[in-house]
Amino acid sequence: MVWGFETEPEVQRELDWVEEFVREEIEPVDQLVEHAWNPRDPVRNALIKPLQQRVRERDLWACHLGPELGGKGYGQLRLALLNEKLGRTHSGPVVFGCQAPDSGNAEILAHYGSDHLKKTYLEPLIEGDIVSCFSMTEPHGGSDPTGFRTTARLDGDEWIINGEKWFSSHALFAEFLIVMAVTEPDAPPHRSMSMFVVPAATPGIERVRDVSVWGHEEAVGTHQYLRYTDVRVPAENLLGERGQAFAVAQTRLGGGRIHHAMRTVGLVQSAFEMMKRRAVSRTTKGERLADKQLVQEMIADSWIQLEQFRLLVLRTAWRIDLHRDYKKVRADISAVKAAMPKVLADVAGRAIQLHGSLGISKELPFGKWVMESFHMGLADGATEVHKVNLAQALLRGTQPDDGLFPPYILPARRAEARDRFADVLAAAADDGEPCRG
Ligand SMILES: Cc1cc2nc3c(=O)[nH]c(=O)nc-3n(C[C@H](O)[C@H](O)[C@H](O)COP(=O)(O)OP(=O)(O)OC[C@H]3O[C@@H](n4cnc5c(N)ncnc54)[C@H](O)[C@@H]3O)c2cc1C
Repeated sequence: MVWGFETEPEVQRELDWVEEFVREEIEPVDQLVEHAWNPRDPVRNALIKPLQQRVRERDLWACHLGPELGGKGYGQLRLALLNEKLGRTHSGPVVFGCQAPDSGNAEILAHYGSDHLKKTYLEPLIEGDIVSCFSMTEPHGGSDPTGFRTTARLDGDEWIINGEKWFSSHALFAEFLIVMAVTEPDAPPHRSMSMFVVPAATPGIERVRDVSVWGHEEAVGTHQYLRYTDVRVPAENLLGERGQAFAVAQTRLGGGRIHHAMRTVGLVQSAFEMMKRRAVSRTTKGERLADKQLVQEMIADSWIQLEQFRLLVLRTAWRIDLHRDYKKVRADISAVKAAMPKVLADVAGRAIQLHGSLGISKELPFGKWVMESFHMGLADGATEVHKVNLAQALLRGTQPDDGLFPPYILPARRAEARDRFADVLAAAADDGEPCRG
């Protein structure tokens, strides 16, 4: 039987290297790079590209890719341990070539792109030479994609796209966008949409607003509100079959969600480590904060939440490796996705409280992380939607009970047991033993 919580020595060696590399090289760079995804920023390129080269030399580049995509097949469990280390940094995922949304978009292109699209977009994307955008959410509703209004109409050998998209992250830097649009208006909603590769320079794409979010400090908002007006793309830019957008989207969303969760473990670990250090360093009324029972409760509660979440993430990663089919682990991923924002909000919130005024100041990152928890509760699907999905999966196959009271009430169970063991009870009574019931 194998049911272990140990890391193989050769994997641990790599993780130790990553730990030191993150601490010594990536964390300092994070202080200077405004947006690690911006390939047009000379400071970013000067600082990040040499680090990417070192990751390649260490053979740890784009570890998320399976062998079918030319990767090493690192597996999600190992990736979880790696991503924990990268997750406490902004630039880490870009330095290791496994950043969202590019990692998921690469998977879509690999599965559904034509040879031409693979050559033009997938290869430079995997190499880290370009970045991409996933343009799905619309301003009139994100949680219910069946209400999307953007359309694509085939005109000869070109598709013409019209509509609006909202919160298209990194559209500002992207070389191409993956856009979801209605192509089969008369089909059932889940078979009415298709997915397209749209080069960012295509005429008709208008940046209505550069939307920024609390918690991110960049000068220009990177979650674009986009308007597509008569945007023409070649017929071959259709990804997968007509009407298959939902299936195509699932190719990226499963991996994307669990990878966010892996990185969040690292962020929460970071907040927790700082809490411990402050608790044993700061004194009040002649005692360390660590000696106050209410502070001890904060430490204990944070560790319990962190470890529960980490185990759920690792177990889910292990199940993905086991089944190699995201459909079979959809409920597990929903559970992780729903748990993630609360763990981060709770632990980062306690870290603020424990650090006092310093904790709420912009001299520590906790306020940003609390906001980040709200990003996590929305991006890739609202928490409520994931909880609903999870509950539906858990309830599926559970049969209703007949009768006014359920058969598992204790009087019924006891009566059953009395019937089953009637002979034993009678014999025991004859022997003069006390009989309960
Ligand atoms: C940081 C960030 C980055 C993002 N990046 C991208 C991106 O790159 N590309 C992209 O396409 N989108 C992106 N999004 C958008 C994201 O996918 C949507 O925010 C999300 O799908 C929710 O849609 P909405 O914002 O329209 O909220 P709505 O659909 O309006 O929902 C609002 C709230 O209503 C409640 N609600 C909704 N549905 C249900 C339900 N079924 N049951 C119970 N309650 C419900 C929930 O509380 C939900 O938060 C990003 C979002 C964030 C925050």
